[in-house]
Amino acid sequence: MMNEPFVINGITVQPGNSLTVDLPAGRLYTHAPMTMPVHIVCGKQAGPRLFVSAAIHGDEINGVEIIRRLLKLSALKRLKGTIIAVPIVNIHGLINHSRYLPDRRDLNRSFPGSEKGSLAARLAYLFMKEIVEQSTHGIDLHTGAQHRTNLPQIRANLDDPETDQLAKAFGVPVIISSNLRDGSLREAAAEYGIPSLLYEAGEALRFDEVSIRAGVNGIINVMRILEMLPPRKRSSTRKTIEPVVARSTAWIRAQDSGILRAMVPLGGRVKKNTLLGVIADPFGQKEIQLISPFSGIVIGRTNIPLVNEGEALYHIARFEDVKDVEAKVDDFHEVHTPELIPSPDPESPIT
Ligand SMILES: [Zn+2]
Repeated sequence: MMNEPFVINGITVQPGNSLTVDLPAGRLYTHAPMTMPVHIVCGKQAGPRLFVSAAIHGDEINGVEIIRRLLKLSALKRLKGTIIAVPIVNIHGLINHSRYLPDRRDLNRSFPGSEKGSLAARLAYLFMKEIVEQSTHGIDLHTGAQHRTNLPQIRANLDDPETDQLAKAFGVPVIISSNLRDGSLREAAAEYGIPSLLYEAGEALRFDEVSIRAGVNGIINVMRILEMLPPRKRSSTRKTIEPVVARSTAWIRAQDSGILRAMVPLGGRVKKNTLLGVIADPFGQKEIQLISPFSGIVIGRTNIPLVNEGEALYHIARFEDVKDVEAKVDDFHEVHTPELIPSPDPESPIT
């Protein structure tokens, strides 16, 4: 079946074409017009309409690179349906290297937004009206905060069967089930009945190659499940990562201020009472041990050794079978480590 033309901001993209559209998003106080760049790939044949968004937190830039690589895939020539790619949702934040908007609001707490609300609310409203309302599925790309890295992970509402299927198809070792009412894009999309995933990987203001490759592959995997792309060739030798859903997660915080010597890497397995690190004063006189209160896998951690009392240092996820997850995390790194494979997907080489 032939795809339908895609209309955005009064501009029509015909089946078989792709186009970059600059969505008007107000003005800077310099008088310069501000726009949110959107790239539409309208497949010849009908299929789902998938939005892929990044930098809703303006300093989380791994997703910007994930989208650039996604749009270069030669496999998109055979796309069924439509991709709506929005690499920079929080344009103000990206310019300022900031998670937030100039009004200090968090765009991902401002959905669904409103036409006459705050700057954040207006951008959220624009995104809902032009992107989400025209989509059938969505993937939103994030990273950890500044000085914090996340192990590649999917956050999704697994109570919804279709979302659950997409989350498991993505192909990262860890899934965190969450259905928070938090004003996020993911929650607003769910209100419209649009299954969506949140991909978290790497650190703010940094490119992390494993996170980027895993992100590109994950989106391809989801598009295969949605039949937007042909299935993987059976001859493929690629390992598939069966994800595991975390039972719960918790941040381990600094009991006191000081200088942290971290002992456990990202993705590391810890047992109850494992020494995660030592916080010391600069003279080495007073040392405090940071102990894991339960068994699990490190899915996030701080990269800066200078810590204040109460600061979140290690994010640990609990699983039914921690050993099994540890093996999957090892497999995952083997699959995505740059020296071992030449491109994110041997079947769809980057051109
Ligand atoms: Zn984020």
